[in-house]
Amino acid sequence: TTVFVLGATGYIALHTVKDLINKGYSVVGSVRSEAKGDKLVKQLGEKFSYEVVPDIAVKGAFDEALKKHPEVSVFLHTASPFHFNVTDIEKQLLTPAIEGTTNALRAIKAYGPQIKRVVVTSSYAAIGSAEADVDTSLTISEETWNPITWEKALENPILGYYGSKTFAEKAAWDFYKNEKPNFILSTVNPVYVFGPQAFDEDVRGTLNTSAEIINGLLKLNKSDSVPPYKGLYIDVRDVSKAHIVAFESDAAKEERLLLTDDRFSSQQLLDILHSKFPEYADRLPIGNPGEGSSTGAKVVNDKTRKILGFDFINLEGTTVDTLKQIIEANK
Ligand code: NDP
Repeated sequence: TTVFVLGATGYIALHTVKDLINKGYSVVGSVRSEAKGDKLVKQLGEKFSYEVVPDIAVKGAFDEALKKHPEVSVFLHTASPFHFNVTDIEKQLLTPAIEGTTNALRAIKAYGPQIKRVVVTSSYAAIGSAEADVDTSLTISEETWNPITWEKALENPILGYYGSKTFAEKAAWDFYKNEKPNFILSTVNPVYVFGPQAFDEDVRGTLNTSAEIINGLLKLNKSDSVPPYKGLYIDVRDVSKAHIVAFESDAAKEERLLLTDDRFSSQQLLDILHSKFPEYADRLPIGNPGEGSSTGAKVVNDKTRKILGFDFINLEGTTVDTLKQIIEANK
């Protein structure tokens, strides 16, 4: 079986591609440049090949790539801008996320009628909301949608990212309902993703947005205050496995898989750093050890856990493995 992975260079995608190849799948990845594609071929071997798609927001961006690969029967769409370093929210976050998704689905319908399963990497951002981060009386599940509006999304880059994921996932389900394509759609909706990079050699000074939350702790000085991150976490290796279940399993058909293990806070991450890596933690702030996790809406993902059928890596596991890789690379 050949799987097309749109956005193969990403933090989550690269784990997924690696796992797919280990399971015997062939992978065609889309990347933004030949240089990025060649690097992946070196890392992944002969079961991986690539197509260059420089801008997913351009109409027809995927048409040629799909026409060239009639052997593809599964399509994973993982590419979306995930950073807050933007000046034009609409152009840099909303448009690529939404157009990238509809362009992909349109191309599959037109040029990939043999494609049976499609998985879109959405996010908890399309489920939770700013209110859910603070209101402990709310309950969030696979059924919940972020109520964010277009106007609200334009207010700042963080809300812009929330909006980009919400509107892109909505566009995917709308396309699915209205166009009745040949494929079955599923989405994967992870919370903050932690865990090592797929390849040690890819650890650099600044990591992808979510892994940087952990990397950033190592850059603190003793007098700095503890960063304010609070939320929910899942390990990248579990996110990768979930992408595979999302297209292999019948139970995952037309489902949104809400991937979360539990809540975390920066203080908890720092506590783990102090207890497991005391030799590196010396020069870091201590904060209020044991202060505990964050609070917010009750998040229920029993349905997802049942479909997946595996246990998630816990906070200590994901934090320690992330730190180990970074500390080793910094030596
Ligand atoms: P990365 O930043 O590592 O990956 C993003 C990927 O999208 C890269 O391959 C990037 O290509 C590609 N991309 C971004 N913008 C464009 C564009 N305009 N045109 C073409 N390609 C583009 O992040 P993650 O791996 O963390 O994110 C992958 C997916 O998971 C995203 O959809 C994200 O929204 C979602 N997600 C991530 C979470 C997390 O905590 N990490 C949580 C929930 C959802 P390039 O490398 O060439 O720039």
